[in-house]
Amino acid sequence: MVFRKNPLEPDELRHLALERLRVKGVGPTALDLPSAQRLFEELEIHQIELELQNEHLSHARAHLEAALNQSTELYDFSPVGNLLLDSEGSIIKVNLSGAQMLGAERARLLGRKLGLYLPEAERLVFNDLLSRSKSGDDLVAGELTLLNSHSVATHVQINIAPLSDESGWQIVLVDISERRRMEAQLRLSEERWKLALDATGDGVWDWNLSTDAVLFSKRFIELHGDTDIEFGHRKEEWFGRIHPEDKPPVMVAMQACLLGERALISAEYRVRCKDGSWKWVLARGAVIARSEDRKPLRMIGTYVDISSRKAAEEAVRLAANFQQAVFDSLSAQVAVLDRLGVLIQTNQAWRTYAQPFAEMGTQAGLGEPYLDVLLRLTQGEQGVVQRARDGMAFVLAGEMASFQLQQPFFVPSDQHWFSMKITPVRDVQERLLVSHEDVTSLKAAELASTNLANVDALTGALSRLNFLNLAEQELQRSTRYGLPLMVLMMDLDHFKQINDRFGHAAGDAVLKRFVQTVSDVLRESDLMGRLGGEEFAVLLPNTMVEGGRALAQRIIDSVQSSPVPVNHQWVVYTVSIGAGCLSSENCFSSLLGVADMALYRAKNGGRNRLEIGMGD
Ligand code: GH3
Ligand code: MG
Ligand code: MG
Repeated sequence: MVFRKNPLEPDELRHLALERLRVKGVGPTALDLPSAQRLFEELEIHQIELELQNEHLSHARAHLEAALNQSTELYDFSPVGNLLLDSEGSIIKVNLSGAQMLGAERARLLGRKLGLYLPEAERLVFNDLLSRSKSGDDLVAGELTLLNSHSVATHVQINIAPLSDESGWQIVLVDISERRRMEAQLRLSEERWKLALDATGDGVWDWNLSTDAVLFSKRFIELHGDTDIEFGHRKEEWFGRIHPEDKPPVMVAMQACLLGERALISAEYRVRCKDGSWKWVLARGAVIARSEDRKPLRMIGTYVDISSRKAAEEAVRLAANFQQAVFDSLSAQVAVLDRLGVLIQTNQAWRTYAQPFAEMGTQAGLGEPYLDVLLRLTQGEQGVVQRARDGMAFVLAGEMASFQLQQPFFVPSDQHWFSMKITPVRDVQERLLVSHEDVTSLKAAELASTNLANVDALTGALSRLNFLNLAEQELQRSTRYGLPLMVLMMDLDHFKQINDRFGHAAGDAVLKRFVQTVSDVLRESDLMGRLGGEEFAVLLPNTMVEGGRALAQRIIDSVQSSPVPVNHQWVVYTVSIGAGCLSSENCFSSLLGVADMALYRAKNGGRNRLEIGMGD
């Protein structure tokens, strides 16, 4: 649109004004001076008012012009094509974008039919849209392909509205080529992933929930031993093959996914194959399109044969059962620890024994650190726990093939002894195997034999070896602290005759009674040992000669006055004693030698007496 220039040229304006005055027929009037001056003033004011009005008008017009230019630019450069068609379908107006879509200059397009820019096949569709728009549909829309003069195609969405006077149509074209290209790309990429999954052995399914048809990939169908034709596209064919036991949970999971309660479905179940056999499959999928009211429109997923994995799992399960059975059959208590020393598996023997010792709520210590369990069993034996801790560390560090506690540990609550062994399970999990073997009976036997070795069975005096060991230690201690020490060697007099007269058993009884008699005289700290036959020794720590002499004499007297009753007779017997005092001896055997010499003298001196020998 072109606007007239404003304001008019002054000459032109004057001419127009004179013209209008002439028409009005008003002539000049005689005025007196004051009236003329007033009139002149009025005219001046009026003139200024007009100038102001003119300025205002100029501004308003400039604004209007700018707005019009802007809307013309919008019209031309808006991303949508705008066309006006006459009743014949010929273009009577087109914006720049529209012209670009049609690939021609605007001037060339005017008067040409829009239909000419469509491929033959789409012209009918276009005409149909035009006539539908005319016959009452306010706005009709469709998708068409425009072909420009160079036969380059542009995909457009076309909106058609009839002009109010029915003299033609208002057309809006939106370029949807990019959308079409992306759709094609999506289709291609879908094809690609389906092919790729098929190639890796995964079946693919694509369920259109609007039509309820399912597209099964080749691999999906082959997995059941079927062909495309037999399988079809029905979901019933798929769901109908699910094992009756597995079907309910699968359907529940599928429903949850369709309702959007779950993002994914991942279900393992058995399916019936064409030959009637069963296969384990893993079906995974997700809803990838929903309507505006959240109804599922499309769901896709994969389908994998997991029969071999299931078989392997079953084999592992059976192996684990077998291992547990073997484990449980062991009489030793065995537990498996993780690398942090926490109990993760136990055998039957362990559970039976350890349950009463378990923490409240734990299953025989399961889930608890082994060392805590051990501490409870031993009632706080820190030494045992420390050794077990060290053993576990050594074994884990590979410094030992296995660790065995050197001494059995003791469970005070039921007086049981257990040996402990820790063996590593050499695998990535770095587990440990701990076994407790009940050695209570062995330990009892050991204790008994130790006792046997240390004590003379007949008399209860210390055995020769034990006595000599203890005496040696005592001598070292006395030497170190400068304490006095005495030793007495005692030999029963004419003992052979007692045996001969009263029998061996009577001799035994005398020997027993002798030890009893001497013990009654001794102090707690004194030691008495049987060195052989009817020969005994007594060690008197912290004893000087006088004290030793008195004690020896008391023994002699006590023995003489204590006949032993045997077979209704009294066996009277005596003892000879040789004593030795610690002086410069540095071992017990030399001190014993001194006492032995003194005993020899006591025997020779008539028996039933004491002789005190002095060392050098
Ligand atoms: P002496 O006064 O010189 O010591 O004479 P003795 O008879 O005591 O000495 P001898 O060494 O000649 O005899 C010791 C006897 O002790 C010989 C042995 O049969 C007897 N005898 C050794 N051990 C036992 C034992 O355990 N029981 C019995 N009943 N007799 C034993
Ligand atoms: Mg003798
Ligand atoms: Mg004797």
